[in-house]
Amino acid sequence: MLNEKMLALGSKRSIIREIFEYCKTRAAEIGADKVFDFSIGNPSVEPPKEIANAIVDLVNNASPVLLHGYTSAQGDFGVRKAIADEINAKFGAGVDANNIYMTCGAAASLTISLRALLNPGEECIVFAPFFTEYRVFIENAQGRVVVSTPMEKTFQIDVCDFESKITENTKAVIMNSPNNPSGVVYSEDTIKAVCAVLEKKQKEYGHPIFLIADEPYRELVFGDVTVPYLMNYYDNTIVCYSYSKALSLPGERIGYIAVNPKAQDAQSVYLAVCGAGRSLGYVCAPSLFQQVIKNTIGAKVDVNIYKENRDILYNALTEYGYECVQPDGAFYLFVKALESDAYKFFEKAKSKEILVVPCDDFGVKGYVRIAYCVDKQRIINALPAFKALAEEYK
Ligand code: PLP
Repeated sequence: MLNEKMLALGSKRSIIREIFEYCKTRAAEIGADKVFDFSIGNPSVEPPKEIANAIVDLVNNASPVLLHGYTSAQGDFGVRKAIADEINAKFGAGVDANNIYMTCGAAASLTISLRALLNPGEECIVFAPFFTEYRVFIENAQGRVVVSTPMEKTFQIDVCDFESKITENTKAVIMNSPNNPSGVVYSEDTIKAVCAVLEKKQKEYGHPIFLIADEPYRELVFGDVTVPYLMNYYDNTIVCYSYSKALSLPGERIGYIAVNPKAQDAQSVYLAVCGAGRSLGYVCAPSLFQQVIKNTIGAKVDVNIYKENRDILYNALTEYGYECVQPDGAFYLFVKALESDAYKFFEKAKSKEILVVPCDDFGVKGYVRIAYCVDKQRIINALPAFKALAEEYK
């Protein structure tokens, strides 16, 4: 007898993957230029030049053990120190190398953190709309998912709803800003309000409630928008960072966990992270890419390319009559379906070769996600189809 839960997970791909696979098949049938694939969050902007230069330099000059050998389970000390120094320079958070644990990207950061924090049956609150894999990660850590519904239209956190969802079983809360799928950046006021509620509830229940900051999109913000650093607002914070989107390296699987040194019993939290990484069999994050990260601290992708895509798409779609919140970051547009059933709308869009993701599984019904991390020309080519789709509903 196989593990039924795993069999079910493996048999049914996430909806994003399903649509992404369909797009590949459809592109082979009718030509890639005729399929408007907006399904997956695969960065379209090139990694910074520094990355390729660092790889070449390392491959030519570093020892094979540094490049390809195991590192310490928590990651190479020099790499962790470089990251800690960067966090301190940017946010003054007072972390050191021993608060940093290198991971294979945000997914690993989250699965490890959840495994480290949750005992069976404990609850983890997620703010809708949320990245669908949270459910998989929380349930795999034997936790229970509790969904907090957002403010209508703005998709900021509804702090009253959030407070009402906290129970004595609440152990963790995941906050993702800039948000996948809405692109919303939570305001500093919202964050202060959330943290005040958490402080109050920790006191009331007499145990810590951890805030997990899921931050793969931290660097992808437009204009002068800033993303508050949660450690500076709430002591029991664990940051789950990833270079997948920030440096356009999703296939390299590299990121880290930063445990706030001010967290209650921070040393034990860090040790539980190490234990969870061990129990999940991660061994260590990729050695070559740990060194690449160390040697390219401060490198950035050109966020203006995403901003230009956002502007073209947002301006055109709102002109055609679609409703959506203007995203301040990430590379997604969260659009209200033109009928109540997002799946039916998805099918209609699909008949025009527009592939978007219906978002019921993200915890908000009646919306679709458009991943605009694509070549600008694909967006321009898709606009007549979006317009025709809107006209069908008039
Ligand atoms: N968290 C969010 C909100 C995401 O959107 C993603 C990927 O799309 C992840 C985590 C996982 O990222 P990574 O590729 O770094 O594992």
